[in-house]
Amino acid sequence: MPHLLSKSKYIRGLQCERALWLDVHEPRLARYTAEQMRRFDRGRDFEYAFKSRFPDGIDLSAELGRNVDLYPARTAELLDKGDGIDLFEAGFQYDDVLVLADVVCQREDGSLDIYEVKSGTTLSETYCRDAALQHYVISHCRRVNSFSIVYNGLDGVNGANGQGGRFAIVDLTAELAAEGDRIAANIAEMKTIVRATAEPDTPTGQHCLTPYACPYQHHCQQGVRQLSLF
Ligand code: SF4
Repeated sequence: MPHLLSKSKYIRGLQCERALWLDVHEPRLARYTAEQMRRFDRGRDFEYAFKSRFPDGIDLSAELGRNVDLYPARTAELLDKGDGIDLFEAGFQYDDVLVLADVVCQREDGSLDIYEVKSGTTLSETYCRDAALQHYVISHCRRVNSFSIVYNGLDGVNGANGQGGRFAIVDLTAELAAEGDRIAANIAEMKTIVRATAEPDTPTGQHCLTPYACPYQHHCQQGVRQLSLF
């Protein structure tokens, strides 16, 4: 079944309901800076470096590409074999939300150890919110033994993109499990936003820059400029 929300849309929605609506209905309006694109690439390099610790890992993205709505069924099929497999980009869907987990390791008893890989050098609040959503969705699909965030334990900028660097691994299972009610309420609110036909008229402000520089600033400021010209 097609999903309504993803992890990135959920994080966008926490920042601004208008950005969430635009992400769903007008994604072509997003404008990313060269530095933002470089940051995405650095993040991918760090993630690949961590995944190389699991040489037998099966990468669902290699098999299914951008057909993300096919990931949950394929993930379930592989996990149901119960062979203690390691999966990259395993897909889970619950409550109309699809998440892809960076690394999922199946234990002998069938429960899962999950690793969410972030290239930043500190454990930010945004990382924890992102992980809380993933824990919420995955724990409604499978038994979760542990959920950890992996970040770059090196001081300063990603040393060699994490190659040879230290992977800081923090187990947040108990903390994330306590977030369930809040996550469910946020999802319900966001589903109402994305189902609306009209773009919210949220004004621009400080929230446009934090925790991320919003890629729709050009679009929203265009409206403000037109108003001031008038
Ligand atoms: S620019 Fe600001 S108001 Fe517009 S969508 Fe982004 S965060 Fe929301």
